This record gives sequence, structure tokens and C-alpha cells, in this order.
Amino acid sequence: MCSGIAPPLSPESGTEGRSSGKMFSLIKLRRVFTVHQVPKAFHEDSIISGYRHPRSSATDCVLSLFQLTNETLNVWTHFLPTWYFLWKLMTVLLMEDAWYDAYTWPLLVFLISCCVYPLASSCAHTFSTMSTRARHICYFFDYGALSLYSFGSAISYSAYVFPDAWVNSTFHAYYIPVAVLNTILSTSLSCYSRLGLPFLHYNHDIDERFSERQSPRLSKVLRILAFAYPYLFDNIPLFYRLLLCVGEGCTDNEANSIHLQHTSLAFLTAFLFATHLPERLAPGRFDYIGHSHQLFHVCAIIGTHFQMKAIEADMVLRQSQLLATAPPITFNNTVGSSLVCVSISLGIICLFSLPLLYGSSETHPTKTEGKKCKH
Ligand SMILES: [Zn+2]
Repeated sequence: MCSGIAPPLSPESGTEGRSSGKMFSLIKLRRVFTVHQVPKAFHEDSIISGYRHPRSSATDCVLSLFQLTNETLNVWTHFLPTWYFLWKLMTVLLMEDAWYDAYTWPLLVFLISCCVYPLASSCAHTFSTMSTRARHICYFFDYGALSLYSFGSAISYSAYVFPDAWVNSTFHAYYIPVAVLNTILSTSLSCYSRLGLPFLHYNHDIDERFSERQSPRLSKVLRILAFAYPYLFDNIPLFYRLLLCVGEGCTDNEANSIHLQHTSLAFLTAFLFATHLPERLAPGRFDYIGHSHQLFHVCAIIGTHFQMKAIEADMVLRQSQLLATAPPITFNNTVGSSLVCVSISLGIICLFSLPLLYGSSETHPTKTEGKKCKH
């Protein structure tokens, strides 16, 4: 029995879990559970079945990727694209003499962020069922990586996407420093949205101070805000270029249509994240395939692909003009500022993780209870 976390595992629900596993699993490895059998911290909105054991070992987590659970496609939809963006990064590094050409550095920073965020996400989805604490820490890293992706976008937009009319403007001068600030705010706010403030709102005993459970709606709103705000800020020059700019200096080139494709997918991604559709309309029907988080991952990756294509198009089409008129691209305003963001984000994640790592034993499920639950 999993005392303190959920009602006892009933034979009926266990059978349901097993039969679902048999039906969908590529390789039968571990039993899956229903939402009533796992702690609240593991519950996903309108997902009823397919949960992995909340005290899985690291090996079980990895093996579960070859069994259909409600997380399997969440992992693969970000793990495979990581390799695609890594391949793109290696292509630029090896083919375009990028080390010596400062003009390609913003693209490199963007591509690195495109590799990091799906990798962090797939790791978070893989290992999030090792324990409640591991789950929170995994997603802190996921949020940090998303903030860095936003910063990578800002670096490349500053170098290649700003409309001619805004190149060298005051806004352009403050764009990267504000993006650094946004990364710090975004990582802090998204981590805060899970548990509140470290030590003040929660400690090791997270079962009693779980802000997601106390106010799930506010928690969700804060998290959406944490990711939407930096994205909207990054895109101010692009929105102006695509939607508002008239006359000269609007940079109306072939990249515009690709930017529009990326922007449409970005809004679809946010819509899926915020609404939990389609599973909210039919709870339990999309547990394994087709729930909003999988669609959210797919739309985000396709959107990032179009964003990369649009950035590359601007980079090539505007090179001679930007090299003559735009502020010089330096190590400090590309790689240097990215390293600052990475360091500060890691510091914030450590700060939010510290109360979970040190203290008395977790209230649920204890190791012994976890073992009792395992079948
Ligand atoms: Zn995800």
C-alpha cells in the first residue's frame, strides 16, 4: 500500500493498467498506474492512466521509453529533434568556418539553445518519476533550458532579424541587456510557479507546501506568463516588421513568410499548453497518444525548425547590409552574455532545488513505501 500518497492499488485498476500496457507496449516492462494510484504531484490534467511508478529507478525510467506510458511520446518528441538540431549545429560549425566568423556566432548561440531545450525536456520527462523531489528538480532544469532558448532567439534576432528601421536604435541597444534580465525573471518565475519560494514556502517536506496543489490555476498562469513574456519581448522587432511597419526600412524579404509560419506555430503551441486540449474534452481517451503535451512538443519543435529557417534566410539575405550598418557582433554580446545567462539560471535552479536536496526524509512516498507499491 502507498500510504500517504494514494489509495491502495486495487486489483481492478491494476488489471486495467496491465491490459493497457499489454495493448500498447512495444516491450512489456513495468506495470502502469492510474491517476488514483500515484501522488498528487504526479497528476496530469485529464490524464487518467499510463502513469509510471512514482519511485522508479533511473534504469526503469530509461527502459520505460520502450514501453507505451503517458510520458513515452513526450520524451521521443523532444529527444529525436535534439539530434536534428545537433546535426544542424555541427553542419554550421564544420561547413561555415564559424569559429573565425563573428557573423555566425549568434546563429551558433541560437542553435545551441535549440539543442539544449529539447534535450533538457526529454531528460525531465524521462527521469521525473524517480521521486517527487526529482520531479520538481527535473522540471526546474526544463524551465531553465526554455528560458535559455528564449535568450538564444533574442541574440539571433538582434543580429539578423531587426527591421532596417530599428537597427542601431535605442531599443536595439537595450534589447540584449533586457533579454538577459528576462531570462533571469523567466527562470525564477517558472521555478516559483511549481513550489513557491525556496525555504519560505517549501522545504524538504514538500507534501505540505505544494503550491501547485494549493492554487493550480495561479501556478499555471504564472508559468505561462514566465514563458510568454520573454517570447513576446523577443518578437517585438519581428511583430513590428511583419504587422505594423510601413514604407522604407521594413525589411520586406523572402524570410517574412517563414517568420509568419513560425509565429503561427508558436501561438498554437501556447494555445495547446494553456488549454490542455483535446484531453480536457475526453479525459482518459488521449492518455497515451494525442494528448496536449505531446502536441505541444511537436508544434514547438516544428515552430523552432521554421524559426531556424527564417533566421538563416535573414542571415544570408541581409549579410552585406548588416555588416555595414548594424552594431558589431562581439564575443561579449553573443557567447559571453549567453554564459552569464547559463550561470545565473543554474544558480537560480540550485537555489530552488536546495530545500529539496537537504533536510529530513520525504513524507511521501518513503523508500520502503515505494518498494511496497512496486509490482
Ligand atoms: Zn514537456
